[in-house]
Amino acid sequence: MKRVYNFGAGPAMLPESVLRRAQEEMLDWRGTGMSLMEIGHRSDCFQNFLYELQKKLIKIIGIPSNYKLLFLSGGGQGQFASIPMNLLGSHKKADYLHSGHWSGLAMEEAKKHAVINSIADCKQYNFYSFPSFEEWKLDKKAAYFYYCPNETLVGLQIKELPEIEVPIVADLTSCIVAEPLNISQFAVAFAATQKNLGQAGVTLVIVREDCLGRALPLTPDIWNYTKQAENNSSANTPPVYAIYFVDLVADWILEQGGVEKLGEVNHRKAQALYHFIDQSHFYHNAVDQRYRSITNIIFTLPSEAQTKNFLKEAEAAQFVNLKGHRKIGGARISLFNAVTEKMVAELIDFMKVFMNRH
Ligand code: PMP
Repeated sequence: MKRVYNFGAGPAMLPESVLRRAQEEMLDWRGTGMSLMEIGHRSDCFQNFLYELQKKLIKIIGIPSNYKLLFLSGGGQGQFASIPMNLLGSHKKADYLHSGHWSGLAMEEAKKHAVINSIADCKQYNFYSFPSFEEWKLDKKAAYFYYCPNETLVGLQIKELPEIEVPIVADLTSCIVAEPLNISQFAVAFAATQKNLGQAGVTLVIVREDCLGRALPLTPDIWNYTKQAENNSSANTPPVYAIYFVDLVADWILEQGGVEKLGEVNHRKAQALYHFIDQSHFYHNAVDQRYRSITNIIFTLPSEAQTKNFLKEAEAAQFVNLKGHRKIGGARISLFNAVTEKMVAELIDFMKVFMNRH
């Protein structure tokens, strides 16, 4: 069996032990004589599994007691639609920070329901930096403020916010459990799970209880936070296999010593790469140093032809999924939790050899 070094942006690499456990438990999950995927979602067995998983995630992520955890279908983009439908209430306006591709798509989706105020636009910096807080045009009457703390495509990460008086919504898809996060600052936080929490098919939605009960009448029941909270995410058949993987990954995170430990490792991985790229004068990362992501690192080489060649040689050497997003080209390294420091060190060695040859 051959496992490559996968630096993809998602669906991302999973820890080998997680995959092996899934394989082992496939035919008989916890002595039931069935896989989890064959157990009715309304059964005590599955409902208890969900409660236990919620408890684990509350511990791992540090979620205060006044939040509900939902496991919903529709991926990250499903939430781009669900957020306005669940949070606008009687409001007609919402604030969005346009920091890149994903917040841009979220804005477009929200425009179907409300007047969207782009409070600051990173486009003027090619999405490599942020306008200063003084330039943000926040509206105190907005239903909510929405942002994406880690824009996966460019690797632009913002860790602090100015004072914001309206409920804050965060798309944590590519930064959840990468390092500790203060969930209590958010009214709603969500993460599609195919990067750091498992595989594609389910989105973890963390909703503060006072945000329930506001859904617009047109909201589909399966994306209505209140209905799903009342039914423990089982108003419809939840994506059981994807949720099962979240449970396996949650156990793995605990085995690793939790998010704090993973955060330390992730910072070391990112620092090693940024340091190497910056001093190489061959590879180039254009993101403002203050806002560089610890998870997604883009870079270019001196020419397009070299980039193409680099990607080809990297793949032949088993370093796969390094191609930048189709929108911007170049190369991108994603350092999700399953990517080890050893993998990063070997990738840097490869990049050095390639540089010296070219
Ligand atoms: N938000 C962010 C930050 C993402 O990186 C992605 C996917 N890469 C999405 C949302 C969209 O998720 P999905 O493909 O599950 O709709």
